[in-house]
Order: sequence, then C-alpha cells, then structure tokens
Amino acid sequence: MLRHRVARLYDSRKRILVTGGAGFLGSHLCDRLLEQGHEVLCADNLFTGTKRNIDHLHNHPRFEFIRHDVTFPLFVEVDEIYNLACPASPVHYQHDPVQTTKTSVHGAINMLGLAKRLRCRILQASTSEVYGDPQVHPQTEDYWGHVNPIGLRSCYDEGKRCAETLFFDYHRQHGMEIKVARIFNTYGPRMHPRDGRVVSNFIMQALAGDDITIFGDGTQSRSFCYVDDLIDGLMRLMASEPGITGPINLGNPVEFTIRELAETVIRMTGSDSGLVYRDLPSDDPLQRQPDITRASTILKWEPKIGLEDGLTETIAYFRDLQQAEEART
Ligand code: NAD
Ligand code: UDP
Ligand code: UDP
Repeated sequence: MLRHRVARLYDSRKRILVTGGAGFLGSHLCDRLLEQGHEVLCADNLFTGTKRNIDHLHNHPRFEFIRHDVTFPLFVEVDEIYNLACPASPVHYQHDPVQTTKTSVHGAINMLGLAKRLRCRILQASTSEVYGDPQVHPQTEDYWGHVNPIGLRSCYDEGKRCAETLFFDYHRQHGMEIKVARIFNTYGPRMHPRDGRVVSNFIMQALAGDDITIFGDGTQSRSFCYVDDLIDGLMRLMASEPGITGPINLGNPVEFTIRELAETVIRMTGSDSGLVYRDLPSDDPLQRQPDITRASTILKWEPKIGLEDGLTETIAYFRDLQQAEEART
C-alpha cells in the first residue's frame, strides 16, 4: 500500500520554476507546490521579495533558491513555469518604472523562450490592471480595458498587457501551452508591510494607532481575495486541459468601498485610529470587481474565505511582524 503511494508521488513529481517566488504570492505558491510533493526552483532578484518569506524552506530537500533577474536569460531544466516576477504595488512599481516595464516584457520573453526550449507549460501572473479604470462592471475577460498608456501606472499596466500579447503570440506562433491568470487585489500574510497597498497600509496604521489614510473620498471600490484562495485558483489553472489558455479572472467578487475596509480594520484591530483623507492618486480606478464565471465553470473555482476571516490571519501576521521589529529596536 505504502509502496504504491510512494510510486504515484514519484510519477507525478515535477520540477517547477516559480519566478518571483520570494514575494508575497510566490512564497505561498512555493509552499503549496512543495506540499504536493513537487520540486521547486524559486528565482527572484529580491527587489520587493525577501528571504524572510522563504526562510522556513531553507533546508527543504526539494526547494532551491537562485538570485536571478528575469530581464536576463535563464537556462535551467524544469517541467512547468509560474511567472510571477514583477513588483505589484504602485509604490514599488513606480519606483523604477523603466525596470518595471522591462521586468514584464523582457521577463516574459525570457521565460517564454525558456518554456519554448523545454516545451513546457507556462503560466503568467497577469492582473486586473489590464482593464485600467474600467467602463464595464464587473469586468469580464472579453473587456479590452480602459488604460492610460502614458500615465504613472502605465509601466505596470502596459507592461502586463504586452506580456499577455507575448504569451498569446508564442502560443499561436510556436504552439506553446500557455495559461494567463488575471489576478485581482489579493491580500494575506507575507504582504510587504510598507508597500503602500491598501490592506497592508490600513492594518499597519491601525496597529500603530496612526491615522488611516484614505485616498479620495473612500467611495472607490475593490474586491479582496485571500491568498490561499488565489493560489488554489492559480494551481487549478496550471492543471487545466491543454486547450485552456485563459485569460481567466481570479479574484473575490465581493466588493467593498475603501472606507468600509478602513472601518472593518479599525473594528477588528480594536484600534482608536481616526480617518484622514488624502488626494486620490492619478489614474486610480474608481471600481473593480471580477466576473468569475469563467473560473467557476472552467476551473470549478471560487473563493471560500470571506474578508473578516482573511483579515484575522493577516492582522495576526502584521502584529507578529511589528512585535518582532519592536523587539529588535
Ligand atoms: P511581490 O512584490 O510580493 O512579489 C513579486 C516578486 O517578484 C518579488 O519577490 C520581487 O523581488 C520579484 N521580482 C521583481 N522584479 C523581478 C525581476 N526583474 N527578476 C526577478 N524577480 C523579480 O508581489 P505579489 O503580490 O506577490 O505579486 C506577484 C505577481 O502577481 C506579480 O506579477 C503581480 O503583478 C501579480 N499580481 C498580484 C496581485 C496582488 O494583489 N497581490 C494582483 C494582480 C497581479
Ligand atoms: N531564453 C532563456 N532560456 C532558455 C531559452 C531562451 O532565457 O532556455 C531566452 C533567450 O535569451 C531569448 C529569449 O528567451 O532572448 C527568447 O527566446 P526565443 O527562442 O523565443 O527567441 P530567440 O532566441 O530566437 O530570440
Ligand atoms: N488606498 C487608500 N489608502 C492607502 C492605500 C491605498 O485609500 O493608504 C486606496 C487606493 O487609492 C486605491 C485602493 O485603496 O483606490 C487600492 O489600492 P492598492 O494600492 O492596494 O491597489 P490598486 O489600486 O492597485 O487596486
């Protein structure tokens, strides 16, 4: 019985490359792939990721880390590629916008070139930002988007759009097996505490007793997906039939205003923080909500974890992080 189980594990074991594997989503993906018995090669230049996210994997016999920038070619041998390398928060991707576009575009070319040589499946972590400030609500995958090509967010939005173009051209031109996921706002433990994203910002501010900074009047909306649900969706997409290319929206369709999020975080942390209002950044989308009909019919996937349950885990993570930081100083 045991021999049979071990044999099956060995047969299905793959060597899987995760670019951006030391980041928020990437590190959770590495964990889940290892749990399934695969070998994981994590390639990351540690621009926004950190070794802390993968510290617990340091001595894992099936885990390997290489410090590598995907804008340069990479010659390794793997069976599958998840391409997640790219700074994801506005603060980080606007820090060096030219590098952001290069990461999306040159990174996609290199990882597609690698997948072409190896004849292996490759999944692209695309984004709801390809819809820009959407005029169709909720966003379906056949909506082409409303993106400013020359604004502050363009390095990210247009870089990701061009990466999608490359994935579909490699698919058409070279018959490659591609999978494109359009990820909507996702949160959870291991988010960067100072990357300016709304969930991490609000929790850090609430825990420190600082004012919560609402950009604009707080009536803009987002739909927040907990990381475990998102990773489950990515893995289902990778495992889908060869003909399934996407793009497929992955996100939680339950929509909240930013003010509602602020009030929920204050209540759940028991903080006495107040709300302060700041200017809305340029090109900040007013609303965003995924239509997940495709994901639910094709992948049989839908998010299971509600905002309060996900926030409980996330608040606990940031509380520990803050206490560890305080202990060091
Ligand atoms: P993150 O910043 O935590 O992770 C990105 C990782 O990529 C980091 O570890 C960073 O060091 C690495 N990286 C950046 N540039 C690189 C380069 N040139 N070469 C190698 N590694 C590089 O962000 P995340 O939230 O984990 O996002 C992961 C992916 O998912 C990104 O591609 C992002 O665009 C996409 N995504 C995330 C969200 C979200 O809400 N978290 C939403 C939509 C799309
Ligand atoms: N590439 C890579 N690893 C490989 C194969 C290719 O990084 O194992 C890179 C290579 O440097 C090239 C890019 O992927 O710049 C695109 O490869 P492709 O074969 O599509 O194009 P070509 O090499 O013909 O320009
Ligand atoms: N936001 C905010 N206060 C903050 C950080 C963000 O009000 O401290 C707003 C931001 O303007 C946007 C929303 O929250 O409307 C989500 O921002 P985030 O950067 O997390 O994601 P994105 O804009 O890429 O969806």
